[in-house]
Amino acid sequence: MKPPDPAKIAAWRARSKPLGRGAPLVVVPERYDANRRRKGTTLRDRSPDLADYYRRVRGPLVAQLIAESRGCEAALRIPPAELPGRCHGPLTVHERRRRSDSGSLENRANLVVACLAHNSAMADCARGDVWHRHGLVVLRGDPEYQALRARPRERKAAS
Ligand SMILES: [Zn+2]
Repeated sequence: MKPPDPAKIAAWRARSKPLGRGAPLVVVPERYDANRRRKGTTLRDRSPDLADYYRRVRGPLVAQLIAESRGCEAALRIPPAELPGRCHGPLTVHERRRRSDSGSLENRANLVVACLAHNSAMADCARGDVWHRHGLVVLRGDPEYQALRARPRERKAAS
């Protein structure tokens, strides 16, 4: 063991003052739940199957798509004059048919890389909106809708 460095010991002593009395501890309400969102919905932990699915399939696929991408697909496909807002935030993977609408998380045809800002903006897309017109959002009744449905093993993992 190296001999102790007097400068380090002095610095440690300076940081190690006895604890003083600060603000009183905040009492956490009895019903406080870290899984509770502000909206009031309660999150369920990912099931082991779903966690395993994300680790094996979805996670690596997202990393690969982002590594292969040329940037935000919204900015690449939509002419600047039509593009709502500017690119902002990290690249993410967007599902053209929404996951909440049984869209696939792994069918590459359903996945496009988009910056976080544009991915978020597409969440509220309605028929005829710029995202829909440029094929970034696929809605019920569109020709591709059925083909972009989650595959059986995805549905199994999610259940
Ligand atoms: Zn973007």
